[in-house]
Amino acid sequence: MRVAVIGAGIVGVTTAYELAAAGLDVTVFERRPGVATETSFANAGIVAPGYVTPWAAPGMPLKVIGQLFARDAAVRFAGPSALRELPWMWRFLRACRTGVHVTNRTAMQRLAHFSRERMDELAARLGLDYEQRLGYMVLLRTPAELQRARAGLRLLAELGVAHEVLDEAGCRDVEPALSPTARVHAAIRLPNDGVGNCRQFAHLLKNEAQRLGARFNFDADAQRLVAGDRPALRLADGQAPSFDRVVVCAGVESNRLLAPLGLHVPLAPVFGYSLTAPLRTHDGGPDMGPRSALMDERYKVAISRLGQRVRVAGSAELGGRLDQLRRAPLATLYRVLDEWFPGAASMRDVQEWKGARPMLPDGPPLVGASRLPGVWLNLGHGSSGWALSCGSARLVADSMLGRPPPIDAARLAPARLRA
Ligand SMILES: Cc1cc2nc3c(=O)[nH]c(=O)nc-3n(C[C@H](O)[C@H](O)[C@H](O)COP(=O)(O)OP(=O)(O)OC[C@H]3O[C@@H](n4cnc5c(N)ncnc54)[C@H](O)[C@@H]3O)c2cc1C
Repeated sequence: MRVAVIGAGIVGVTTAYELAAAGLDVTVFERRPGVATETSFANAGIVAPGYVTPWAAPGMPLKVIGQLFARDAAVRFAGPSALRELPWMWRFLRACRTGVHVTNRTAMQRLAHFSRERMDELAARLGLDYEQRLGYMVLLRTPAELQRARAGLRLLAELGVAHEVLDEAGCRDVEPALSPTARVHAAIRLPNDGVGNCRQFAHLLKNEAQRLGARFNFDADAQRLVAGDRPALRLADGQAPSFDRVVVCAGVESNRLLAPLGLHVPLAPVFGYSLTAPLRTHDGGPDMGPRSALMDERYKVAISRLGQRVRVAGSAELGGRLDQLRRAPLATLYRVLDEWFPGAASMRDVQEWKGARPMLPDGPPLVGASRLPGVWLNLGHGSSGWALSCGSARLVADSMLGRPPPIDAARLAPARLRA
């Protein structure tokens, strides 16, 4: 079977690998010169299935309103252009109802756990080194923050996710370089979760997919998709190859291909930012950076160690443009790094980045056959695309080959959003 994959972000690369591993004849089309150059480029790298959950949740609308005018708000509206996302916001609001949230959360958690198993399995079998580290710690600054985290703790216990609550001394044992002046009351630590370099993983897995025979065409912009028994692509250079199946993994750009065919996926780009900087070492001694991954619960900012670098990521911005880096969210990232790990990184060499999370209003991605003949979807992974990628890719391969799904994936079917 000849299969085309459109997009070589983390979702497209993992999909190409799983399809090639299943013995299919795979060709990837990516408009950029390499893999993982868009949203998968500099994300926080966190893989913590216990914390993968829809942003649409009971109480979220009030939280967002409460943040609207805060200096370090985790959620922002970038001016009037955010209004174009009003229909998406309406669907988001409706998905905040308790019953809908719980159904979506269960589906995402199931996928996240399966995905991590698959990621670990691939890493072990293929010997992949992608700067992975175990340990994820959610930092709570005050007793009130710990109190608010109690519901989350009950959920972790229900889900059987290994975790512990640490006091200040415990936090400092786990992360000895935390600033002595930073105020930390407690932390929730997930010893089996952690962090890894998503872009690096994408590069390594692309090589493995190529070894299995997959072809990667870069600078290949698929401008049009034709559905049918033999779905075809119209490329920017005028070629129009046809296939037995096409899988759309085009992240936030997916509607450019699907909408002309009458399939409108409710995807919104929810922008986020990251900073990456090399860690300083003093006279060959240990550096003063984090050992693994942390989350500042107050500002919803992640701090992660990737090799000899630190990455700080956060912010959720609706409206605006990808090429407009706004100073306020970046300033929050600098401030959070400075509070927890002052002087740890060489800020002269900092890399600032903005990415667009491909976000569906209700949470889970769309994975599987769409209602268009020959067209499959693997998109809409929002804030957890790295954590969900390996599992989603495996589900695509299994369903294309008619193999029974390894997990209950009914909620991920594109039919959920009439796609
Ligand atoms: C600040 C930030 C922090 C994040 N932190 C985390 C985290 O800690 N953990 C986690 O799991 N997730 C995280 N995410 C989310 C994660 O990065 C995304 O969910 C994931 O990268 C999406 O992958 P993708 O392959 O769907 O999209 P992309 O990586 O954007 O890939 C889509 C690809 O399709 C290509 N493409 C589009 N249209 C066409 C076309 N017509 N023809 C050819 N090619 C095309 C694009 O060029 C692109 O390369 C974060 C995101 C942000 C912004």
